[in-house]
Amino acid sequence: MKVEIKGNTLKLMIGDITKQETEAIVNAANGTLLGGGGVDGAIHRAAGKELLEACKEIRKNVLQGKELPTGEAVITKGYRLPAKYVIHTVGPVWKGNTNNEEKLLSNCYNNSLQLAKEKGIQSISFPSISTGVYRFPVDLASKVALTTITDFLKIQPFGEVVMTLFSQNDYDVYEASLKEMLSSD
Ligand code: ADP
Repeated sequence: MKVEIKGNTLKLMIGDITKQETEAIVNAANGTLLGGGGVDGAIHRAAGKELLEACKEIRKNVLQGKELPTGEAVITKGYRLPAKYVIHTVGPVWKGNTNNEEKLLSNCYNNSLQLAKEKGIQSISFPSISTGVYRFPVDLASKVALTTITDFLKIQPFGEVVMTLFSQNDYDVYEASLKEMLSSD
């Protein structure tokens, strides 16, 4: 599904984000930036070990050894990926919505888009942040993600934003949320 928002494109598709040819892809990282399972592991495997080295550099020199806070984003090159850049953001762990999870998830999308825009990037792919190991319910996550992305695109000229969903079920949930949002506009 593809929609136009103020001259920008928002696309939903099923696919493997490591194969995406957008200028940037977003990694659902953890605060250590040292890689992990799920999409994070897949991105590190496909990008090669230079990506881990670049992440270690950021930990040391940008974050003074600390972890990347939840909702924040940093950027590296994409190394062996088709994408030129990887934006690493840390999604919130779902704790029953007792911990500001919706706002933190929205920050992930917003800060990633803001950082991409600052770097002059015009196309970006997101995975469904936090809905894997971090257990954020997909339906609520889709509404947070799509609202944040569309609110951004309504006020900023950007280019193309792709939500790369990893299963038919995730795609169906995101598509239903997007249709509902558009019909209530
Ligand atoms: P989190 O820790 O933020 O929950 P996960 O990596 O566990 O991150 O899951 C986030 C989402 O990414 C899940 O929907 C998972 O199915 C999906 N995913 C896993 N591998 C890929 C991939 N190669 N491309 C796109 N999405 C992926």
